[in-house]
Amino acid sequence: MQIRVTKSKQLKPHPQDNELAFGTVFTDHMFNMDYSLEKGWHNPRIEPYGPIQTDPSTMVFHYGQAIFEGLKAFRTKTGEIQLFRPKENFKRFNRSAKAMCIPEFDEALALTALKQLLALEKDWVPKTIGTSLYIRPTIIAMDPFLGVRASHTYRFFIILSPVGAYYKEGFNPVKIWVTKDHVRAVRGGVGHVKTAGNYAASLYAGEEAHRKGFTQVLWLDGVELKYVEEVGSMNIFFVINGELITPMLNGSILSGITRDSVLQLARQWGMQAIERRISIDEVFEAHANGTLTEVFGSGTAAVISPVGLIQYGEKRIEIGNNTVGPVAQKFFNAITDIQYGKTQAPQDWIEKVPVSE
Ligand SMILES: *Cc1c(COP(=O)(O)O)cnc(C)c1O
Repeated sequence: MQIRVTKSKQLKPHPQDNELAFGTVFTDHMFNMDYSLEKGWHNPRIEPYGPIQTDPSTMVFHYGQAIFEGLKAFRTKTGEIQLFRPKENFKRFNRSAKAMCIPEFDEALALTALKQLLALEKDWVPKTIGTSLYIRPTIIAMDPFLGVRASHTYRFFIILSPVGAYYKEGFNPVKIWVTKDHVRAVRGGVGHVKTAGNYAASLYAGEEAHRKGFTQVLWLDGVELKYVEEVGSMNIFFVINGELITPMLNGSILSGITRDSVLQLARQWGMQAIERRISIDEVFEAHANGTLTEVFGSGTAAVISPVGLIQYGEKRIEIGNNTVGPVAQKFFNAITDIQYGKTQAPQDWIEKVPVSE
């Protein structure tokens, strides 16, 4: 399928690298593609970034049939632009589509479109280490209809946003609150799907955590409120007795690409890396007997986010004296070195974006 390109007549000013925040500035162009029953996915196009004008009855506004992805483009020291495991994002995007009754798309076309969009927007990829161009592919239900069913029309779009370094003043460990009153997802539900509603459902507990002075919520399983699932919108890792432990994928946990990268690197390094159920009681016991040395989250935005403190009911533990542990630091360095092209990546983790001058 040919991707039609319409260039913007008026280009926006670019912010300085050191002024960049997260998700506030968007580039000049976006990718769009539509779906209808008659035509399937059609009319892939790159066009000026701009509003989507649509009917107030549009289904996505009412029933939340929406999925998204999050990945980044990085600029290497030599000025090249590269993506970190983008095929995994589009694979997961199609799994999310299937789970939300959204018609699957051609992953190769999506990756080609993304690279073409990035080539056009190459000057928007910031240069300072730690900064990147955040990529947000999204699909939304577009039927103007209030009945409850899967939509018959969809919009697939990709927008780009230059983002600042997550850790401007170095790594700082976060404080997390284990909620006993809320759950993020349940088995049989859509916890494993990157869908808008999961985020809407997590806001209330997140606000409560902020009010209590914590950065994030640590989510327990939705059935027994006993087993650790995720932290905020990141996967979670524990280092106990020198072993790396992360909750196994059980249907309510999102299958993070950073999580998978951590597990693969750990195994390459000969570290014990175990995916299993881990209860919050086990975490507190391991702290009590001195075997819990590190806790950290993993996700595209922060890569690795060390946890310094966990509050569970009346109990509170401090991990590694609230400093960054060597394991978290090692994964952070290894992954970011790969992303910025400082070290060779395993297998096919890096996709270069060809740009012509
Ligand atoms: C996106 C996401 C993650 C992290 O996935 P990455 O692919 O590593 O960015 C973890 N948990 C939730 C709920 C998510 O939505």
